[in-house]
Amino acid sequence: MSHDATSRALFARAEGLLPGGVSSPVRAFRGVGGTPRFMRRGEGPYLIDADGNRLVDLVCSWGPLILGHAHPEVVEAVSRVLRDGSTFGAPTEIELELAERVVATFPAIDMVRFVSSGTEAGMSVVRLARGATGRTGLVKFDGCYHGHADPLLAAAGSGVATLGLPDSAGVSAATTADTIVVPFNDLEAVERVFAARGDQIAAILLEAVAGNMGVVPPAPGFLAGLRAIADRHGALLVIDEVMTGWRVDPAGAQVRYDVRPDLVCLGKVIGGGFPAAAYGGRRDLMLQVAPVGPVYQAGTLSGNPVAMAAGLATLDVLARGEAWPAADRFAAALEAGLREAAERVGIPLTVQRVGTMLTPFFTEDPVRNYADARAADAARYGRFFHAMLDAGVYLPPSAFEASFTSAAHGDAELERILAALPNALTA
Ligand SMILES: *Cc1c(COP(=O)(O)O)cnc(C)c1O
Repeated sequence: MSHDATSRALFARAEGLLPGGVSSPVRAFRGVGGTPRFMRRGEGPYLIDADGNRLVDLVCSWGPLILGHAHPEVVEAVSRVLRDGSTFGAPTEIELELAERVVATFPAIDMVRFVSSGTEAGMSVVRLARGATGRTGLVKFDGCYHGHADPLLAAAGSGVATLGLPDSAGVSAATTADTIVVPFNDLEAVERVFAARGDQIAAILLEAVAGNMGVVPPAPGFLAGLRAIADRHGALLVIDEVMTGWRVDPAGAQVRYDVRPDLVCLGKVIGGGFPAAAYGGRRDLMLQVAPVGPVYQAGTLSGNPVAMAAGLATLDVLARGEAWPAADRFAAALEAGLREAAERVGIPLTVQRVGTMLTPFFTEDPVRNYADARAADAARYGRFFHAMLDAGVYLPPSAFEASFTSAAHGDAELERILAALPNALTA
């Protein structure tokens, strides 16, 4: 029996039932080739797949699991809430507790609206920005991903980048006509767009640390420059922190880089492994949202008590101050290990890390934008990925994604990774 025979059999069955055998495209391994592993269990820093292989998990469900799998406090909080009913479609006190935590964490957020996914958060802030400004234009950056709402599927990162699609079928030209795409970290390009049509632009929307083209930090002055341009033209600055919130900093990118957005998207960590996300920001803007204001947005499971409990328990653990530094230390050790191993075996590698997110790009040059990310050797990443997987380390199955660490990762996991690197880097 091969070590992934069960996964292969499950995938064959899945291909007849789910498009591509998956519920979300990147999971299908198209970016690296081969057959995806089916997962059975998570345990701290480990995933246990359908064949019983124990894999060091550097995906952490694409970001949410900053405490690792099945953290006892999260499990306990969720179980307690679940026994009293999982959804009421009515307000609950636990929403307020999580909202208070968010408001206390982010100086730019006065009020918050809970939704169920980052996609919903992205879609809703665009509607709100347009409703509040009476303008339709939207500036977004090449390779940034904000979920799969139609107006945002122009030059999007993540799975769209992995599959090499410039766009998506089914998105009409009219829907993206007001979306202006510029290169990340290119302030002059943004200046030019605003010089031409600044009075039509509702918002600049970005990941302040890009994570969906691999990790790309903002160049010095980039974020402050965007803030100044938005102010000069009466546009809003919207920072999508669905990935970076509680990840690049104990708070988020806006705190780490000291920039004040008008609106913010949150997701991933905020749901503690359950479907919860949020958007929030300036009080006057949030009061434009229904039922107080004219911008409609709603959700059957929004503010779901089980998801709120998981998020709250996660943020409670983070607030004690030990978990984030632990995840950050592990990421720093991983970064150093990757650099040293690459140097030793003579493979050009640029490791970009901000806090608990990092990406090894197979190139010798710094990656400042999506064009740079695409210029890196994605085929080599695929070979690296499979060699690491064979050695028991689960990396993101795409060269255009971030790896994530958790507070549960420790010395044993680091050792296993470091031992696998020389062989995998030269695969
Ligand atoms: C993951 C992600 C989203 C989409 O969130 P989903 O919950 O997958 O819909 C949006 N923006 C960013 C920056 C993300 O990383």
